[in-house]
Amino acid sequence: MKFDNTYFRDLSGLYAPYDAAVAPDPKLIKFNHALADELGLDVANLDLASIFSGALKPDGADTLAQAYAGHQFGGFSPQLGDGRALLLGEIITPDNKRIDIQLKGSGRTPFSRSGDGKAGLGPVLREYLVAEAMHALGVPTTRALAAVTTGERVQRETAQTGAVLTRTAASHIRVGTFQFFAARGETEKLKQLADYTINRHYPDAINVENPYLELLKSAANAQAYLIAKWIGLGFIHGVMNTDNVTLSGETIDYGPCAFMDHYDANAVFSSIDTQGRYAYANQPLIARWNLARLAESLIPLINTDQDIAITQATEIIETFSALYETHWLTEMRRKFGFEITQDDDADLFDTFFETMNDNMVDFTLAFRALADLADGNATPLRDLYLTPSATDAWIKRFEIRITNEPNAAQNIRAANPIYIPRNHLIEAALKAAQTDGDYAQFEQLLAIITNPFSEQPGKEVYAKPPLMVDPSYKTFCGT
Ligand code: AMP
Ligand code: MG
Repeated sequence: MKFDNTYFRDLSGLYAPYDAAVAPDPKLIKFNHALADELGLDVANLDLASIFSGALKPDGADTLAQAYAGHQFGGFSPQLGDGRALLLGEIITPDNKRIDIQLKGSGRTPFSRSGDGKAGLGPVLREYLVAEAMHALGVPTTRALAAVTTGERVQRETAQTGAVLTRTAASHIRVGTFQFFAARGETEKLKQLADYTINRHYPDAINVENPYLELLKSAANAQAYLIAKWIGLGFIHGVMNTDNVTLSGETIDYGPCAFMDHYDANAVFSSIDTQGRYAYANQPLIARWNLARLAESLIPLINTDQDIAITQATEIIETFSALYETHWLTEMRRKFGFEITQDDDADLFDTFFETMNDNMVDFTLAFRALADLADGNATPLRDLYLTPSATDAWIKRFEIRITNEPNAAQNIRAANPIYIPRNHLIEAALKAAQTDGDYAQFEQLLAIITNPFSEQPGKEVYAKPPLMVDPSYKTFCGT
């Protein structure tokens, strides 16, 4: 692995150099060879279990824990940071992208507070599955490179097999990274971080009149695009705290996340989100709120006159809803198979979701059934409704709308997945791995959800919602 560690070299004072704990008996559970190839990593002669447990530091790595703060469920924590993660360093891919490689679960760091710095096998496999599914679904995301068990037990609600996830990311810079230095009034470090972020993610901002405003604009655009993608898939992140919001616009930190089965605008799965702050339909609003925290952090850089800076930053935050709406419309037109635009499209989409409310309609299957509808067969869609007639008026509207859309059916099939990582499938795979050390289900599920758009004969059960809906289903951080 050829590292080129700019965060380490250029940003001293913004992190703590630190070494991983030495795992007593590291075993490689899964390695993502396809991703390694994309990254240009030559791993043929490497001891992958030792390296990706943290026990063996590869040549050229400069392990460090990044400092960051964050608003968690609305309350500010001035010091979070990598409490159970270490950046190994950055590599440059064959297509010239700079990518972070990070260990998660590799032991305590100066930011661990009362935590043990470790991760359990369940959450590691969950992040592996969901991150790789998201990538296959075309959503910007961190990715999973390796999963290793450490040979230790970690104590959570129950004792779990200890594990380390290696993930890759365009970077691990978060809104909370800016908040950390802004809250401490460390404007020089804040500027260093902002300049670094601009260079790494938004180099076009260097040449505009106000690069820091442009950084805010670019981050807002990336978030608006990302959240539209989540909404289009029925994905609920679950813990959209500002420390889990990247400047790159990649989804990060798959903890208590979930894809909904039946459509429910208020869906919440996270065991810790008792108020529904991060409910499905709230995510665009929360993204705006999080960007407002980024805007606040950038004030000292935007203008020496604070009032001017606030006015300028506020203008950008106020455009977020319109920006999101634009990305949402684009994403929905893609999902509904439309190639031309019509003024009442937004209303057509909204009405579709309204008909689904209270009808226990499977979100993912509904979009696949739209393709049949476009082919002239309304039965698959109607059959998804508790009260099929609830969708009849909408079906007529759709049929009229697609008279000018000859490719609708084919477009819908290309844009909408058959297979998503459904909660009950993930739980079954995790349980087999955790209780029996049996990874066959994990492997099978991973293979299916990383090829989400094509029919896989014999795998029909993976496309279906659970037979029984568990209304109390919760996902846990538990890392
Ligand atoms: P999260 O909610 O998973 O995004 O994590 C929030 C913060 O808690 C981050 O600063 C993590 O590094 C820290 N954290 C979570 N779990 C642990 C753990 N087991 N040990 C140490 N720090 C942790
Ligand atoms: Mg986090």
